[in-house]
Amino acid sequence: VDPRAERIAVNEAIFRDVNEKVADFPRGPLDSRGPIDFVCECGDGKCHERVRTSRAVYEEVRSDPLWFMVVPSHVAEDVERVVQQHDAYWVLEKIGETKPIVIESDPRS
Ligand SMILES: [Zn+2]
Repeated sequence: VDPRAERIAVNEAIFRDVNEKVADFPRGPLDSRGPIDFVCECGDGKCHERVRTSRAVYEEVRSDPLWFMVVPSHVAEDVERVVQQHDAYWVLEKIGETKPIVIESDPRS
């Protein structure tokens, strides 16, 4: 596996884990109908940007182990492709040889 592609996949898996904790946070304001500040799930380990969206959107992205929710344009086009474009976020799908990394690290699989 190409080291750069692997690093991107591992970073995305880590950000996904962070967001799972955000989404699981019991009670409090996160249970309201309002938007939630998720972290960008792109492959840049230094990215600290946020994606503000609803739990319903997050759950839809999370339904596929290959999908990640990122700030628009935060895409590495050689290892993932854009499957949805919205004003607040894009949805990426992993392609290529690092797919097993994100599938096996999916906390919901
Ligand atoms: Zn990002």
